[in-house]
Amino acid sequence: CQPGFFKASASGEMCEPCPAHTERLGSGALLCPCTDGFYRAPNDPPTGPCSGLPSAPRDLVATTTQLSAGKLLLSWTPPEDTGGRTDITYSVECRRCEGAACQPCGEKIRYEPASAGLTDTKVSVSELDAHLNYTFTVEAHSGVTQFAAQGTPRADRPPSTSALTTSLHYTDPPKVTSMRVDERTSNSLSLSWAVSPRPRAQPRPIRYELTYRKKDDNLDVTMYTVLILEKSSVQINDLAPGTAYLFRVQALSSEGTPGGSSMEDEYETLPEAHLTQNNTAVIFGAAVGGAAMLFIVVVVLLVRKRRRNSHTRQGPEDAYFSSSEQLKPLKTYVDPHTYEDPNTAVLKFASEIHPSHITKQKVIGAGEFGEVYRGILKAPGRKEVAVAIKTLKPGYSEKQRQDFLSEASIMGQFSHQNIIRLEGVVTKFKHAMIVTEYMENGALDKYLRDHDGEMSSFQLVGMLRGIAAGMKYLSDMSYVHRDLAARNILVNNNLECKVSDFGLSRVLEDDPEGTYTTSGGKIPIRWTAPEAIAYRKFTSASDVWSFGIVMWEVMAFGERPYWDMSNHEVMKAINEAFRLPAPMDCPSAVYQLMLQCWLQDRSKRPRFPDIVSLLDKLLRSPDSLKTIADFDPRVSIRLPSTSGSDGSPFRSVSEWLESIKMSQYSENFTCAGVVTMDQVLQMKNEDIKNIGVRLPGHLKRIAYSILGLKDQTSTLSVFAV
Ligand code: AMP
Repeated sequence: CQPGFFKASASGEMCEPCPAHTERLGSGALLCPCTDGFYRAPNDPPTGPCSGLPSAPRDLVATTTQLSAGKLLLSWTPPEDTGGRTDITYSVECRRCEGAACQPCGEKIRYEPASAGLTDTKVSVSELDAHLNYTFTVEAHSGVTQFAAQGTPRADRPPSTSALTTSLHYTDPPKVTSMRVDERTSNSLSLSWAVSPRPRAQPRPIRYELTYRKKDDNLDVTMYTVLILEKSSVQINDLAPGTAYLFRVQALSSEGTPGGSSMEDEYETLPEAHLTQNNTAVIFGAAVGGAAMLFIVVVVLLVRKRRRNSHTRQGPEDAYFSSSEQLKPLKTYVDPHTYEDPNTAVLKFASEIHPSHITKQKVIGAGEFGEVYRGILKAPGRKEVAVAIKTLKPGYSEKQRQDFLSEASIMGQFSHQNIIRLEGVVTKFKHAMIVTEYMENGALDKYLRDHDGEMSSFQLVGMLRGIAAGMKYLSDMSYVHRDLAARNILVNNNLECKVSDFGLSRVLEDDPEGTYTTSGGKIPIRWTAPEAIAYRKFTSASDVWSFGIVMWEVMAFGERPYWDMSNHEVMKAINEAFRLPAPMDCPSAVYQLMLQCWLQDRSKRPRFPDIVSLLDKLLRSPDSLKTIADFDPRVSIRLPSTSGSDGSPFRSVSEWLESIKMSQYSENFTCAGVVTMDQVLQMKNEDIKNIGVRLPGHLKRIAYSILGLKDQTSTLSVFAV
């Protein structure tokens, strides 16, 4: 045979060309050997092609089928490249990791149908322990795999394995199924309760949250006591004799949030006369025992005391205290939806106010559910306080009422200087209300527009610092806001900024900026991170993106982000890596921080604690705010569609003034005889001052804009998509 051809034996047959992936030998070859990285299995005909190793299985996923049996299903799709073979099988290997230490999973784990020789692209794995991390490696094999293993591995060959690390999460706490009283005295009750059966592998002890209060307490001054317990029984002492108490017990998830269904019951202490000396000894003994059982003893919502102590409000964070130092207080935000009955959540996180203690004075805004009033709250024994009162308009459905009150259930869990403070709710009367602290200067966006140019960078950064501190608190509580924007920040007399707007439905319905996306939900596009728009990945990192937009809004005195671009144009620009330019007079360090907040890769964005410390640093050394970021007025004055014939993008002076939000000076220009854009372009700073533009911020805005108009180049379309 010629080189490149072969014939298995000397015969009269024709020589055949060397098959795929074989070497071409010299003349007279009896067979063509495999090229490097390709193999023949013993049963492959020597005249056939050689095959490569399969590439890795793809799309490996683990799904939990029967959590309680410690079982999961691994599945994958066949390798993209089978090496030209059809005899693909798979094997699964398991490693168990505790921290960084990993070891083979050993014999205990069960595989169904098997751990090797699998022809199907799935295997069920059982007898796994919860809370351990498992790494499963799935390898694709073919008839030539074992021969490849004997040879030297080729560095450039992609591996035939895919790995995945997973764990079974038993985060769902068990249900409390029954509660009973074991012993009663005149001032103590011993209670115990049972829970639904738990998966065998669940390793952590369950903790319970027991809440109780006197049954017939006037809710206005109710004292709730909350105990966090490690055992499913407790003795409660110091109760009033002959009094009915309401108890509610609920298991806590491993994150410390209540879950599962709760059990509620009512028990009464014995009347006074039953107290004998014998009982006293029992109570004393039990009280000591009881105290030892308590994991954390927490007393919250001591409403009466709280009111007496003026209004330093106690939220979960500072109200919950721990009897042992290393135990963290419960400070994760609890979604009111986790409560079967949302009314329970309101009751738990908000104090009830009697409507007679509230005086409405004036409508100050329109909320989604009804008007917002300014008013006065005068609770018995407390000083009058100015409050904002959100009302629920008549004709609401029960669902709307619950949605309305959900804002209070959320707000009531927070206690921070930069989060709007909940005073209480009215739920027991026909007209439900939410009462919060009053913020004299209203919404931040409007406040800034009304005071354009009147505040220094230092003051603006101070405001941003407050918002960042509020957001840090929310992110520490694992609360994701989703609608952070200047319109949802309120400002008080001291120019303190507080984050507000916590309704559960708000992103869907409330926000006028909310726009329906292709995926159906309503999202305020200009404020929302790309991953949240694209696939609803709302996290504290997406809140950081929104914070970047708020920074821009603040530094631009309430300018609308991306001006008049349509939502579609905004999304397109962001995808093409465009970002908002620095606002006029914005310190460079502040603009740099905005750009960091708008990094595409959300893991690279700063976190709220980083943002707070950076802003603090800038405020501590005000000189750091003196370097101003480059400002390009051409970007902010784009109105290509209104382009006039004279080369100016504006057809009239008033159109131009409108585009830079300076319409209030229209008359000044007309009176001064400046009626064409050509005349505008001739104006000097002095002329602008002379026609009556005195505010430094406005003067600058107009002057910059004229500068930009003079320097007309194609960069005008930086944001014109
Ligand atoms: P909201 O339904 O929370 O968006 O409130 C509607 C409007 O009412 C806001 O934009 C504010 O102007 C005003 N508002 C709401 N809460 C307060 C408050 N606590 N203090 C002052 N004004 C408020």
